[in-house]
Amino acid sequence: MTGAFPIEKIKQLETPFYYYDVALLRQTLTNLSEESKKFGYHIHYAVKANSNPRILSIIHEYGLGADCVSGGEIQAALDAGFPASSIVFAGVGKADWEINLGLDQDIFCFNVESIPELSVIDELAKKKNKIASVALRINPEIDAHTHHHITTGMKENKFGINLSQLDEVLLHLQRCTAVRLIGIHFHIGSQILDMEVFQQLCKRLGDILHFLGDRKIVVENINFGGGLGIDYDHPEQHPVPDFGSYFEVFHRHFHPQPNQQVHFEPGRSVVGQCGSLISKVLYMKEGSSKKFAILDAGFTELIRPALYEASHKIENITSDASQEKYDVVGPICESSDCFGKDVSLNQVNRGDFIAIRSAGAYGEVMAMQYNCRKLPKAYFSDLI
Ligand SMILES: *Cc1c(COP(=O)(O)O)cnc(C)c1O
Repeated sequence: MTGAFPIEKIKQLETPFYYYDVALLRQTLTNLSEESKKFGYHIHYAVKANSNPRILSIIHEYGLGADCVSGGEIQAALDAGFPASSIVFAGVGKADWEINLGLDQDIFCFNVESIPELSVIDELAKKKNKIASVALRINPEIDAHTHHHITTGMKENKFGINLSQLDEVLLHLQRCTAVRLIGIHFHIGSQILDMEVFQQLCKRLGDILHFLGDRKIVVENINFGGGLGIDYDHPEQHPVPDFGSYFEVFHRHFHPQPNQQVHFEPGRSVVGQCGSLISKVLYMKEGSSKKFAILDAGFTELIRPALYEASHKIENITSDASQEKYDVVGPICESSDCFGKDVSLNQVNRGDFIAIRSAGAYGEVMAMQYNCRKLPKAYFSDLI
């Protein structure tokens, strides 16, 4: 059992729901701000990790910018108070209305992923008599050593511009009169724990800047994207990611020019550990060789295990009894609706409360209404 949850209050609430530890979120943001300031790095929070309005407004208090991947996210960031001048907009499939929204709001930068996209931004900006600031999202062809569903920086991924096409893109840029190249952008994957990968990225950046320099192209902004992982197995031991060591890698391996600004887009590492999905046990079921704990939460509330084979720490927060092994499953009519197999939990009974930890990122934002279910509510430690 953990002391971190206000059990008596939680027992009053209708499950399943997300519970956010606001003190931990603030501690994480303080650490992120302090560590990034040491090197003058600019941070744009990746809104897609968690766009709950209260979470966004807390993050905004710490002076971060926003990284958006849709028009809806741009709107959510603006609504939460993020200035348009701090917003970067990425994504392989930006619709015209989304580009127009970015242009109308004068966002900081469009992170462009292809030549056709560049043409459309140029055309739409011309119609508005504006100049769009763009960064080229370059695919550095680096293996992030993470799950194949969340790696994005390899040649075969749909994201970014491949190195072999860079010359062609630069040629095309010369013909775009309503577009200004202000930087280059990378985002090589997510849940990256091997710092060596980021070191490789710095090295690849060096080669790319050399290539651009040979063509007399100066880039004012370097954006390394997001991707720093969190400890899903031991959320208590590592509640705050090691931002210090992370930035240190970049500081050591990339030396910007005096007028060059360095940007990051962390998502998971900012919000992952502060959120838990709280669920109640509906039934205990004995299989021929297994015990199933059937929860009232399923992949409709947290899809990461079903989508990425992700594993989350699971705890019975209302029992002190000795541990047994259970398959922890949800009520949805799909076999993939399973949060964990052979999970050790304090002996489980109907009505117990189960916490699925480290669910603050890519949890609530991916909730869906399959099986005509209700979307989960969210509660905050400082408001319940
Ligand atoms: C998803 C995404 C991020 C955030 O990734 P995390 O792994 O959550 O830090 C940053 N930048 C871009 C372009 C993204 O698509």
